[in-house]
Amino acid sequence: MTTSLWHERAAALAIDGRAFIDGQRVWAKSERQFDDLSPIDGRNLGPVARCDGADVDVAVAAARAAFEDRRWAGKSPAQRKRVLIKFADLVQKYGPELALLETLDMGKPIKYSQSTDVGATANCLRWYGEAIDKIYDEIAPTAANSLALITREAVGVVAAIVPWNYPMIMAAWKIAPALAAGNSVILKPSEKSPLTALRLAEIGLEAGLPPGVFNVLPGFGQEAGAALALHMDVDCIGFTGSTGTGKQIMQMAGQSNLKRAWTELGGKSANIVCADCPDLDKAVAAAIGSIYFNQGESCNAPSRLFVEASIKERFLEKALALLPNYQPGDPLDEATVMGAIVDATQLDTVMGYIDAGKEAGAELLAGGRRARGDSGGFYVQPTLFDKVDNGMRIAREEIFGPVLSVLSFTDLNDAVKQANATPFGLQAAVWTGNISKAIQTARALRAGTVHVNQYDGDDITVPFGGYKQSGNGRDKSLHAFDKYTELKTTWIQI
Ligand code: NAD
Repeated sequence: MTTSLWHERAAALAIDGRAFIDGQRVWAKSERQFDDLSPIDGRNLGPVARCDGADVDVAVAAARAAFEDRRWAGKSPAQRKRVLIKFADLVQKYGPELALLETLDMGKPIKYSQSTDVGATANCLRWYGEAIDKIYDEIAPTAANSLALITREAVGVVAAIVPWNYPMIMAAWKIAPALAAGNSVILKPSEKSPLTALRLAEIGLEAGLPPGVFNVLPGFGQEAGAALALHMDVDCIGFTGSTGTGKQIMQMAGQSNLKRAWTELGGKSANIVCADCPDLDKAVAAAIGSIYFNQGESCNAPSRLFVEASIKERFLEKALALLPNYQPGDPLDEATVMGAIVDATQLDTVMGYIDAGKEAGAELLAGGRRARGDSGGFYVQPTLFDKVDNGMRIAREEIFGPVLSVLSFTDLNDAVKQANATPFGLQAAVWTGNISKAIQTARALRAGTVHVNQYDGDDITVPFGGYKQSGNGRDKSLHAFDKYTELKTTWIQI
């Protein structure tokens, strides 16, 4: 579609910022609202319900009632499967509208909202729908005169709190396994990008989810988010966001009803390129493509690049040649590959880190400035620092923006030590043509996912999560069911 047609559609789009509770669109009980600003041009997309504890109470009561009367949990896995597959089909049917909302709300290029975000959301719903009627329970090998059944049951009321960087996908990774397992869900999207979550709730209802089973409460973390984390009648919380907030979530879960709390948190992933890397061009393209994808606003972005000293000059020459392809453009232009930073606050954070890198003595080889200044939106050039030391803030802290820190090494063991010298442990990569070296390095890297000679391994069948302060849970794959189910043992005398 042409850029002007996308803009026309954007101007004509009706935005509904009301919450979704018990199958109905409603404003917050307090009647408070907040403005939802588009990072593309700073335009106010419309008012959104500012939910707080009072709305959380209503939503939790609705979710609890739905769970207790078994209107969803009581359906057979095959019945739940049919609804989730219809949900996936409808996400695809409404794909252009959802993609447009995602881009307007969050700033990512429309090309990726359509292919990545809509596609992965539909795929996730479909996959958990397909999976749920293929899982069998167990019988333990106990004594001959008894039978011990080990079964899985839904936990009950699940709160899902998600960030703004992949609003639909992060929501789908929580709601799809939780709903498939028979739970009732309350989703709190980020206040920075609440719109697609609200549409998903309507689409879920259209697909056949009974009222009360899937509720969406937009609002701020300290208000709606904290009320969910502290609520005595929420059984489980699935959280994705920053490590700082993750710690608060764990505390709130502990100080309230010890609800199960699963966290998927920040990262500072290390990408190690050895001199015997089998395909340097591929390594360069992956390093650059992965850090600037989604404007660098990805938890698993390989933001620390360790290059063996003997190939660093050649590597950087090739990397810098690619940067013109990543200049920010209009997110509603299908040719754009880098869009807007989500809001003014995040823009300031990113620019603050760029200043910190310069002050610490790192060498700014490219970027470092704002872009598209006359757009009214928030854009940053793809930025690349060389001569970074692992002790600098730009190497230690998660920037969550298009900023790559390059470090060099001569001894691989030392590079691995530096890669591991971080509180995070989400992802890592190693590039080498030596299979033993690759496997030894992959084993030594303390991360939930390690890539070898690639950085784009991604599939719904594979768990996604971190070691250390990158969180304690795993999204995706059949393992996600562990978070949203309880194991029950039933002893039967025979
Ligand atoms: P954030 O922690 O600021 O907010 C995440 C969510 O938590 C939002 O919905 C927010 O409203 C809510 N929240 C904030 N304070 C809260 C509180 N006190 N109580 C309850 N809820 C609260 O994170 P963000 O800026 O939205 O997202 C960026 C972070 O998310 C990055 O650190 C990124 O690495 C991480 N992330 C991790 C993964 C993963 O799978 N590991 C995926 C995507 C993003």
